[in-house]
Amino acid sequence: MTVKLKRICVFTGSREGSRAVYREAARNLGETLSGRGIGVVYGGGHIGLMGVLADAALEGGGEVIGVIPQGIVDLEVAHEGVTELRIVKTMHERKAQMADLSDGFIVLPGGLGTLEEMMEIISWVYLRFISKPIGLLNVEGYFDPLLSFFRHAAGEGFMPESYDKLFTVGENSDLLISGMEGYSPPDGALVRGFDTI
Ligand code: AMP
Repeated sequence: MTVKLKRICVFTGSREGSRAVYREAARNLGETLSGRGIGVVYGGGHIGLMGVLADAALEGGGEVIGVIPQGIVDLEVAHEGVTELRIVKTMHERKAQMADLSDGFIVLPGGLGTLEEMMEIISWVYLRFISKPIGLLNVEGYFDPLLSFFRHAAGEGFMPESYDKLFTVGENSDLLISGMEGYSPPDGALVRGFDTI
C-alpha cells in the first residue's frame, strides 16, 4: 500500500550547523519536496536550516505553511514569503497544528527543539495517537549517536527491540520519501508488556 503524502512536516534547526553539508541537505530536501508536488509544513522561521528549506521549496513553486507562536515571531524571524503563516499562542498549539496538517514527518539535523519535536512524534506513533510515517534524513551520519542510544535503550530493556519500525532512516531525500510512501505505521492496540511495535 502507498501512503499519499500531500504535505510533509519538516523538523529542523534554527541554526545552520557548522558545515555546508547541512545547508545543502536542507536545500535539496526543499527542492525534492516541491519537485514531487509535496507541500511543506514547518516552524515558520526564516533562520537556520528552517529558512533554507522553506526558501528552496518556495523557489520550486511548492506550498509552504509555517506555524509559529507569537512569542517567537521575532526571535526566529517569521518568514514573510510563505504560502501561509499561522501565528499561534503556544508551542503545544504549534506542534498540534503541524501534526494535523501533515501526512508524514521528516527530521533534518537540528538542536534541542528539533530533537524534542522528533521524540514527541515518534512516541505518538508508538502510542498510536497518530499513524503517519516518520523519516530521519541522516545527513553524514548526524543521527548515528542517537540511533546507537536507541539500540542501547532497547538492549537495556526500556524500548521494544522492534523500535526501528517506528521510523525510516535515509541519507537521500528522494529515496527517503519513497521509503515513507511504502511504509506501514504500526497498527493494532499496544499490549502492555509485549515487545512489539
Ligand atoms: P532547534 O533545533 O533548537 O534549533 O529548534 C528548531 C525549532 O524547534 C525552532 O523553531 C524552535 O522554536 C522549535 N522548538 C524548540 N523547542 C520546542 C518545543 N518544546 N516545542 C515545539 N517547538 C520547539
